[in-house]
Amino acid sequence: MIRIHKPATAPPKLTTEGKKKTAEHHTEYLANPIDYQSGTKTFNFSSSIYNHPSVKKALISAQQQKCCFCERLVGNDGDVEHFRPKSAYSQNKKLEKPGYYWLAYDWDNLYLCCSACNQRQKKNLFPIADTKKRAHLNNYDIVIEQPLFIDPGKEEPSKHIGFRGEIPYAIRGNKKGKTTIENLGIDRNILNDVRLEHLQKMKIIYQLIQIAVEDLDNQELQQLAQQAKENLEHAVSDQGELAAATRASVHDEFELFL
Ligand SMILES: [Zn+2]
Repeated sequence: MIRIHKPATAPPKLTTEGKKKTAEHHTEYLANPIDYQSGTKTFNFSSSIYNHPSVKKALISAQQQKCCFCERLVGNDGDVEHFRPKSAYSQNKKLEKPGYYWLAYDWDNLYLCCSACNQRQKKNLFPIADTKKRAHLNNYDIVIEQPLFIDPGKEEPSKHIGFRGEIPYAIRGNKKGKTTIENLGIDRNILNDVRLEHLQKMKIIYQLIQIAVEDLDNQELQQLAQQAKENLEHAVSDQGELAAATRASVHDEFELFL
């Protein structure tokens, strides 16, 4: 995960139709909260609003086409995911209703996410430190909640999650990093394998740059080294796939040189 900087202004679809629809959901809920809590009634969320091409395009752009959690490239194949789940949420396996229905069209609550992270890992999970502070019990105030998932649009993930090579770990065992890694499967085998392969390639690129420093008269080698340096610079930038792990490796293993 890396920090995500979304434009401050939400796509108009969310602030016009999304806002109107949110007010409707709210009125429906207040008229009969018990039925929504029991699941007898459910909200008719409009994916044509939160999943509108203008919204998705803005997320793809802000996230450099990458999944907000695992940082694999997904582009248009990704889902528009709700950080706080809209229909129902779970903390300890038990599904609670309703979810954060009033955030279904909220710009801050939306991310681009791969289907593995969204549909197989996160699903309706949204653990918080103190369940008595759940927003819907407290005038919908999400500020008092202390989520146990890192919100990449609001905080710097590298303060919570570090990498030893391809393997992520919670820095000093912090709970938020640990919960995020375990629940979202940031350490799942396929991701570890993909990161390992990527880091091995990066290391070869780094070694090429090092060799070139010893042979400055070799023009061909110098040209290759320049390309290698550009590749490595891209890999540690926000655009780079798996940038968080790459940054950690460049810092810890390859020595700092960029
Ligand atoms: Zn993912």
